[in-house]
Amino acid sequence: MSMIAVLGSANMDLVVTVDRAPGRGETVTGRTFETVPGGKGANQALAAARAGGDVTFLGAVGDDDFGRRITALLTESGVDVSGLVVSDESTGTAHITVDGDGDNSIVVVPGANGTVTELTDAHRAAIDGAELLLMQLELPLDLVTAAAVHARSRGVRVVLTPAPAVALPEELLDAVGLLVPNEHEAALLAGVADPVEAARSLAARGGDVVVTLGAKGAVRVCGESSTEVAAFAVAAVDTTAAGDTFAGVLAVGLAEGLDWDAALRRASAAAALSVQRPGASSSMPDRAEIDAFLA
Ligand code: ATP
Repeated sequence: MSMIAVLGSANMDLVVTVDRAPGRGETVTGRTFETVPGGKGANQALAAARAGGDVTFLGAVGDDDFGRRITALLTESGVDVSGLVVSDESTGTAHITVDGDGDNSIVVVPGANGTVTELTDAHRAAIDGAELLLMQLELPLDLVTAAAVHARSRGVRVVLTPAPAVALPEELLDAVGLLVPNEHEAALLAGVADPVEAARSLAARGGDVVVTLGAKGAVRVCGESSTEVAAFAVAAVDTTAAGDTFAGVLAVGLAEGLDWDAALRRASAAAALSVQRPGASSSMPDRAEIDAFLA
């Protein structure tokens, strides 16, 4: 197995459903309330581990029930959590309100995630022993940049999902070998609406760019060449964390040395399986399921 280090966020998602979201100063009665482990880092680590990767997760949770639940879920899925720090701050939370039209509004409180500001010796050791470093942008940007620069200097491939989209420092972009934005993030980062044009512009500085396009699949651009990656035609019931599943499984394929076509096909298959089931982590397929789907 090839080792993947995931440096990223762990949150508890606090999800309420309402008929209509409250306006300013208004109180409304909700329908349901659920707590769901999430955070893009933890989600991608879970997706990668379920797909058969040897995954170590680097981040922080609080000394509280949310943190213990997230840690238990990662551990059950085979993720090495020895680099998951228990901080004095509360576990990060995402307060999600989903209205009757399926539109959501979200408040994220970083909590313990915000305490991961320094690249520690433990982070460096995990990165040095890995084939690939997988990151997102829910931890402080300076830390993400420092980790990418370190990984690059050690010859460790850096894969970045640039979400939430913010302007990326040159130093970070230069260290990233593969950028995996969705079409909105690609458009924001490149300042170009067309996803293929955006990918071309983002790939112009070198490295690979894979833009995910939801049910339309994905497109990979490297230098002058671009390849369309078809999505599998399935009946989607909940696309939450489709992108995280795609990124985690793509990382496993690449770390295992699959060629691009095979790695992208496995990532698309895993994401297609995940959208057919509700939830985030609960919807992510394991390796056998991905194999069976592609057989
Ligand atoms: P999220 O924020 O929900 O995690 P995202 O916006 O980051 O998602 P998407 O581009 O929506 O990511 O989807 C990622 C991948 O998941 C797509 O490239 C595709 O392979 C797969 N996918 C998404 N939606 C569908 C769908 N309806 N049917 C089949 N595959 C899908």
